[in-house]
Amino acid sequence: MRFSEIIGNGSVAKALASMADSGRVAHAMLLYENEGCGALALALAYVQYLNCTNHIDGDSCGECPSCRQMSKLIHPDVHFVFPVNKGPKTSDDKPTSESYLKYWRELAIADPYFTEADLQKAIGIESKNGLIAVAEAKSIITKLSLASVADGYKAVIFYLPEKMNQETANRLLKMVEEPPVNTLFLFITHSPEKVLQTIFSRCQSIRVLPLTKEEQQRVDAMKPQSDNEDAVVFFDLFADLLRAVTSRDLTGALECGEAMAALESREKQKAFCNFAGDCIRKIFMLQQKLPQISGVAPEEEEFFSDMAARIPKGFCVKAIANIEKVVSMIDRNVSSKILFCDLVNRMFMNI
Ligand SMILES: [Zn+2]
Repeated sequence: MRFSEIIGNGSVAKALASMADSGRVAHAMLLYENEGCGALALALAYVQYLNCTNHIDGDSCGECPSCRQMSKLIHPDVHFVFPVNKGPKTSDDKPTSESYLKYWRELAIADPYFTEADLQKAIGIESKNGLIAVAEAKSIITKLSLASVADGYKAVIFYLPEKMNQETANRLLKMVEEPPVNTLFLFITHSPEKVLQTIFSRCQSIRVLPLTKEEQQRVDAMKPQSDNEDAVVFFDLFADLLRAVTSRDLTGALECGEAMAALESREKQKAFCNFAGDCIRKIFMLQQKLPQISGVAPEEEEFFSDMAARIPKGFCVKAIANIEKVVSMIDRNVSSKILFCDLVNRMFMNI
């Protein structure tokens, strides 16, 4: 991936390129993004630039042997770590990222803006939480201890360090602190507050900016179709819920709660919550008479305007807080049926 192919975050791309040009390459960097804003794309473009033998106009060439390997994510000195679990797509009893590398490559090449839920789906562990276990640390230490295959930098692109436990972090710490020469760690996080402090404190942090509406539309247009299918399902479910709540149909609302709890994975349930939170923010903006920044698309206008008129002021703020609470509880293994039933009840009482 070249910097010029990245949607949004031009200033971050420039900063990364100039770091590489000046030779001040931090050996541990943490890119913090709201999910799907392009941190992985930036990390890939940065490593490609560092190893490109033929820079052109402040970007990698896209054609030298190193760039070609990067474009297929098969560069022998670039390693990927991401949260995994046991699943039907590997026979490994203690799987590591290596066990799912083929699926990771397919996903990241097709859509470097993928979400955690997309990754879970791609590696076939939708119903489980992905983790970065100690076996992963051992594997990375072994790989980095070997001599580089090519001349340039070795890199570990580490997706969601917040999913590693203390034991894994302890194992990795020395390597992150004092990596072999020309070796770098690029951590990509959605929740910097959950990254273990021992790792966080050793990284140079960079904030990847949220995408503008226009940039988000360009990213969406580039995505494989299945994401759009999710959006259709989520919208129908959200609309059914609000219609039931606003028409005081408790049975209908509880049925929606059951449908949310039946979404096939925790990640999908969280993705739905995030989607619902965004929808409620749109309603809130319309109620505040700020349609120009509401992000409501023309085809959604009728539904959102209707809801903005029917929903009492004060509901949106409470609903968003309740939804955010559900997202944090999903990670704590609380029964989804209880969580979503409670959420629906609260929305029903606040309307
Ligand atoms: Zn090149």
